[in-house]
Amino acid sequence: MNTYKQILLAADFSEHGQRVSERAKDLKDRYQARLSIIHVVDNLPITDATYGPVIPFDIDLTEELMAAARKRLAVEAEKLHIPQDRQWLELGSPKLEIIRVAEEQDVDLIVVGSHGRHGLALLLGSTANGVLHHAPCDVMAVRLKTQ
Ligand code: AMP
Repeated sequence: MNTYKQILLAADFSEHGQRVSERAKDLKDRYQARLSIIHVVDNLPITDATYGPVIPFDIDLTEELMAAARKRLAVEAEKLHIPQDRQWLELGSPKLEIIRVAEEQDVDLIVVGSHGRHGLALLLGSTANGVLHHAPCDVMAVRLKTQ
């Protein structure tokens, strides 16, 4: 039977995220694995077609966002008993950063929600889809429905 040793939970702190966290914790307990958590602050540049070129990303705003996200991540990690050295806060594309950390940390299972903050309209959210296609390991997409 397959045994997972390093599980990575991708947390976007969305409405249904609690179910994803619970599933990751359950898998961690079943496999007696190490659980890590990652949250990625999206560094989408601020754009407006009217102004033509991209407005440079605001560094102060980024730092504020990262500080707020770090606090939020620590709260979630504490609930799951995940120590600080297994809490990953990254800046960039969620899909790419989740995959990068999974590779670097020899993760063998990534747990994501089927959907995140962008709603339940699609069959699979774009982060979930991207992770599923490019991950170096197994991926569990926890099916999230409206009820
Ligand atoms: P999405 O594909 O964006 O609808 O989100 C699907 C799942 O991907 C979420 O339930 C999370 O598990 C994960 N995810 C999305 N955005 C992030 C993010 N910024 N940081 C970490 N995980 C994320």
